[in-house]
Amino acid sequence: MNKKEIIKEFSSDPDRYYKVKLFEEQGFVRKACSKCSRFFWTLDSGRDFCPEDADDTYSFIGEPPTTKRFDYTEAWKQVEEFFVKNGHTSVSRYPVVCRWRDDLYFTIASIVDFQRVMGSKVVFEFPANPLVVPQTCLRFKDLENVGVTGRHFSSFCMIGQHSIPNEKGYWKDECIDLDFRLLTEQFGIKKEEVVFVEDVWEGGGSFGSSLEYFVKGLELGNAVFTEFQGELGKHTTLDQKIIDMGAGLERFAWITMGTPTAYDCCFGPITNHLMQKIGIDSDSELLKKYFTAISKNLEIYDDLNGVRRRAVESAGLTDDQVNRIITPLEGMYLIADHLRTLIFAIADGALPSNVGGGYNLRMMLRRINGTIDRMNFKLDIDELVDMHIDYLKDTYPELDEKRQDIKTILKIESQRYENSKSRMEKIAKRFGAREVRESGIPSVSALITLYESDGITPEYLKEIKVISEIPSSFYEKLSDLHQSDKKKTKEQLPLENLPETEMLFYKDDPMEFDAKVLKVFDQSVVLDRTSFYARGGGQEPDYGTISGFKVTDVNKHGDIIVHKLEVEIPKKREIPKEGEIVSCKIDTTRRSNITKNHTSTHILNASSRKILGSWVWQHSAFKEDDHARLDITHHSSLTKEEEKQIEDAANEMVKQDLTVNIDYYDRGTAEQTYGFRIYQGGVVPVKSVRIVSIEDKDVEACGGTHVKKTGVIELIKIKRTKRIQDGVVRIEFVSGPTAQEYVKQQETELATQSVEQAAKEEKEKFRDKNKAEAREKIPVLLEQVASLSDSTTIDEIEMTVNNSMKICFTASNQYDEFFHINFGKKLVRNLPNSVYVGIFESGPTVRIIAYAGEEASKSKNAGKIARSVAEILGGAGGGDAKFAQGGGKDTSKKDEAIAKAKSMILG
Ligand SMILES: [Zn+2]
Ligand SMILES: [Zn+2]
Repeated sequence: MNKKEIIKEFSSDPDRYYKVKLFEEQGFVRKACSKCSRFFWTLDSGRDFCPEDADDTYSFIGEPPTTKRFDYTEAWKQVEEFFVKNGHTSVSRYPVVCRWRDDLYFTIASIVDFQRVMGSKVVFEFPANPLVVPQTCLRFKDLENVGVTGRHFSSFCMIGQHSIPNEKGYWKDECIDLDFRLLTEQFGIKKEEVVFVEDVWEGGGSFGSSLEYFVKGLELGNAVFTEFQGELGKHTTLDQKIIDMGAGLERFAWITMGTPTAYDCCFGPITNHLMQKIGIDSDSELLKKYFTAISKNLEIYDDLNGVRRRAVESAGLTDDQVNRIITPLEGMYLIADHLRTLIFAIADGALPSNVGGGYNLRMMLRRINGTIDRMNFKLDIDELVDMHIDYLKDTYPELDEKRQDIKTILKIESQRYENSKSRMEKIAKRFGAREVRESGIPSVSALITLYESDGITPEYLKEIKVISEIPSSFYEKLSDLHQSDKKKTKEQLPLENLPETEMLFYKDDPMEFDAKVLKVFDQSVVLDRTSFYARGGGQEPDYGTISGFKVTDVNKHGDIIVHKLEVEIPKKREIPKEGEIVSCKIDTTRRSNITKNHTSTHILNASSRKILGSWVWQHSAFKEDDHARLDITHHSSLTKEEEKQIEDAANEMVKQDLTVNIDYYDRGTAEQTYGFRIYQGGVVPVKSVRIVSIEDKDVEACGGTHVKKTGVIELIKIKRTKRIQDGVVRIEFVSGPTAQEYVKQQETELATQSVEQAAKEEKEKFRDKNKAEAREKIPVLLEQVASLSDSTTIDEIEMTVNNSMKICFTASNQYDEFFHINFGKKLVRNLPNSVYVGIFESGPTVRIIAYAGEEASKSKNAGKIARSVAEILGGAGGGDAKFAQGGGKDTSKKDEAIAKAKSMILG
């Protein structure tokens, strides 16, 4: 729809769309801007230009239009006091991580708090009417403006004033009356300064008129009256009209303080602290001039560098002043802003990572770290976090509870930044060596894996010259990959005109029941009622039998449950017919195991959060009968110690035999009672929420089957954990009987291992003993060899007497290197006409040691023998005619080596 057409239509009938009672009562006149022709309402009949084109834009800097001075937190107190006094309920802010919407990572406006998606429709659920909320909103679109323009933030507090016009709420007249009185009475701004500009709003199929209100050129708020739906001209009035007034709290503070920038009055004591720390002399006259020029120029020029250059000129700043004052100030403001956003996001359970919304958080912290490095600031992030939280905790007490967790995450992530550069380079180079070497171009899937596992983008690979080109399909494939879950199309099944299946597993949950067959197709049947749990929420389906046929799969299609049957081959009988009453039986063992695993998932989620930190959320889960897994959000891999602590904490919950309760709540009540922690398994698209609570330890919205008491689970064992992507850790576990079996199996394995180990040790001990004995035998053996004159074998040493030459050979295992050296050396010294050769195993090699006495060496060369034998063994030998040794690794040739040695010494 075209906004211009709508505004043309609405502005052609201002009495109907824009004229409110206040305008009439106070005598506002409607004028068209002499420059841009936009229509506006003012009490100053001499005003010819709309607020943005008027001369007085940003003249409040240094000269606020009120005598009241409210900084950021005080400004909220004033706003809240005013609206509460006027019949509004003040609602606490909603999380900045938008867990109740599938299509948003972060909360971007106060109205988002109350939007719930039902199928393709957005419905509004207000906890009170009318209400006001200080909603922190995150927007990452204009990051380059933050710190530079004086008014752009990565997160800001949207004052949300919302009303449904019914017996409790109000419509346009009262809304604008309230907003005008807020500015004039509560904030003390002169009536003549307030200007309303006609505008429209459209989105999500609905639209309506809106009035933006300005003071001194600064837009403070926008009151949107969402009223119509459909195409302009054919539009109809909404059943549920809504007032969506959003105003920037930062600007409310700024207009009363008149500081050079909005940053100066919105970060509490941090701005002054940073100025002192960094040593900026803040000549406020100069800053006032400079930032007024920035603000005015921003309305005129698009290019930020141009805006900055012109402001430097018109404020008459020297290069030195820019370098000494402006540039450090910009860095300082950026740090304060980005840090505040990170505090809110981490407190609400988001983690910096390279996926989804976490990407923005990582980038912001890297901008903080980069700025600190570049400017050489000496800053203590922990101290800044404390200052932010101390300042904000009056309005947002929940931040105080997360103080330590926030510091932990920021520390880990900053450390990662420090380490990342050399690490990224190493990984990228290794990737290059592995993937790029052959073809020159890595596959797109390899690039995606690299990006998802290590956060290394193809741009970085290109920068360090690992690749020369980025495959054009990379980003397309990447975004497809991340959307595929949401895009999963439903199969077309012939289910028209079938009533919704009565889900007995949410009622009495009988394990045997009769039901009527409503539909049969392929091998599938639809019943009027069923206890077979259909696959959903990560829980695998029940098996069992329907009319004697095995049930192999159960799925939910809308409200209809489809059972898949196994058809016998060869076919013995027909599957049940439509209209037949069939008897059904659930496989109770399977169900019981899956149920235990499901409750265990909740228990492990709670114990992980307890042990690791508040940032732990369920990322996804899978529950089969013999195994299960829980993926949690966490910044690092788990240590063995952490695994053990989580397992212990989980088993403590099992031991305590806690009661598991299942209750149904109206969604709004559930959210207000338990908070958004309930959405561990994702968004719940129904009005009535099934809340599964394990006493006060864990509360989740969940549609699965659960045990009644945790004691039934008996035992939970973590099998292994693994970091599966940046910021996500997978815990694979077993519970109940499977866990008991697993423990037994582990014990058996351990026992087998230790038996093998013992046998090995025994063998070594025996060998050592043998060898020690052999060494002691040396003198006895030497004597025997000397005294005997016929060929014989003494203690596995073969002695051959050949023409008075005594040749001794052994390959016995009882002799080691020490024996061969000492026996051989002494033998040839005592008997010059003798030869000794020993072959033995030593570690992975077979070795030979050869001695030939003075006399014998003339015909039997020890060196030659050792070299020939070593060659057979695939190695080498060395030495001289009298003493040599060698060896090789080919132990399979040991026999051949022995034969060769013998033939050489005997031949
Ligand atoms: Zn204008
Ligand atoms: Zn669950």
